[in-house]
Amino acid sequence: MSWLGGVVTSKTQGQAQKTIPHGTACRTLTTRAVTYTCVRCGQDETTARYPGPTPRYCSDCKTRRNAKDADADRRAARERMRRLRQRRKLEDEERDARLPAVF
Ligand SMILES: [Zn+2]
Repeated sequence: MSWLGGVVTSKTQGQAQKTIPHGTACRTLTTRAVTYTCVRCGQDETTARYPGPTPRYCSDCKTRRNAKDADADRRAARERMRRLRQRRKLEDEERDARLPAVF
């Protein structure tokens, strides 16, 4: 195996970028009555909403969904941390392997 000193591939994947829009933050928002159909139970619900996307779930389903999501979020966060630690460990080992063996 003579991969040492070979091609070094740069790691660009795994980079996260997030853009948070600030454009509407300064506007005065007023609520309006929005009637929508819950995609989960099919019930029509009318609620006062700020301008924005129409909700997809009625308040009942939203509460239930959020409780489930919170649980899933916790699990996902744990998994993310585990993967992050694993990746750091791998990168450390790779770095060590690339270091010239000079003592
Ligand atoms: Zn519903």
